Amino acid sequence: MVDLEQDDDFQGDPLAHAGLDTLAIRAGQRRSAEGEHAEAIFPTSSYVFANAAEAADRFSGAQPGNVYSRYTNPTVRMFEERIAALEGAEQAVATASGMAAILSTCIALLQAGDHVVCSRDVFGTTRVLFNKYLSKLGIRADFVPVTEFDAWRQAICAETRLLFLETPSNPLGEVADIARLAELAHRHQALLVVDNCFCTPALQKPLDLGADIIIHSATKYLDGQGRCLGGVALGRQQQMEEVLGFIRSAGPTMSPFNAWVFLKGLETLRLRMEAHSANAMELALWLQQQPAVDRVFYGGLPTHPGHELAARQQRAFGGVLSFRVRGGRQQAWTLIDSTRILSLTANLGDVKTTIVHPATTTHGRLTDEERNQAGITENLVRVAVGLEDIEDIKADLARGLTRI
Ligand SMILES: *Cc1c(COP(=O)(O)O)cnc(C)c1O
Repeated sequence: MVDLEQDDDFQGDPLAHAGLDTLAIRAGQRRSAEGEHAEAIFPTSSYVFANAAEAADRFSGAQPGNVYSRYTNPTVRMFEERIAALEGAEQAVATASGMAAILSTCIALLQAGDHVVCSRDVFGTTRVLFNKYLSKLGIRADFVPVTEFDAWRQAICAETRLLFLETPSNPLGEVADIARLAELAHRHQALLVVDNCFCTPALQKPLDLGADIIIHSATKYLDGQGRCLGGVALGRQQQMEEVLGFIRSAGPTMSPFNAWVFLKGLETLRLRMEAHSANAMELALWLQQQPAVDRVFYGGLPTHPGHELAARQQRAFGGVLSFRVRGGRQQAWTLIDSTRILSLTANLGDVKTTIVHPATTTHGRLTDEERNQAGITENLVRVAVGLEDIEDIKADLARGLTRI
């Protein structure tokens, strides 16, 4: 018999040097006494104590352990540990949605009088959150074009505590230099928050590039099959404890069922992201050849202004692209209405390919001037490329393109 106790290679954390796929499949899992192979779902609101003394110790924190599922839940904890391992973060805090992750991070780390500089082309609701709600609490935000470093620099003032960005941007795929903006933020004692929803840790690791906090809408690629809403904030323990404190008090907690779906989603994350990227790349090249297409926006194309930076900062270019058809709204709608396989929906990050007209949906709430500034023209169409056969996706789009 080999004495494994004496074997250095058998001791310690087996995942200490594990690669991304191994972490995506193994990190965070804890088995119950039943010995289940797959992760267990714990659909319980509260937990039972052995006796009154244990209850008192759990409540006071003298003894670690579960008390109530607004505070901790074993399935949610497994998801938090797994995504933290993938992003290389000290701690993750799961939330009920991506927006809840952004709100909780801002409430936990900011106070009245503080200022945020945010990239102009962030998710529409993120803008609403800053402009309509966080402003009520005395938190000011200014918006700048994500690629214009000088605009970021000039927008920073003595009260700036946070820089917030999404890269690549939606829907034009503009790319922010994370390392350079992290350095700018730190020079002004501010934190850099990156919404890493479009890339996921399979394609981009913002913390390695100097960012302080990562936000995800788990609803998108982390799930990958359009089933559940969820979100997560990740970063250093000191800041995440603040975020956790807010979640516990305010209650936008992730449900254990959703956490389980995300755990399963993470297991295939890299494979899916590479397949999404390969399909999107092929579709972008094909669209460029179509006479009815005026211009394609995809970071994977060497002609895209963000291509070089994206190639340096990301492992691949992701699944989202957009393009302008020749004509205006009429022609864009004709194309969309001619599809029979693609889903007409604003969601993305799904194995099912989705198509949408940004000017009248996702960006419909912007003023005409804001839309023009952001390059959201009436002839722009966004496709979040899924994992169907690429020839079928092309054929579904070709029908409409020949009618323009
Ligand atoms: C969808 C999305 C969000 C919001 O996430 P929800 O889960 O819908 O609340 C935030 N950021 C980006 C980039 C998104 O695509």
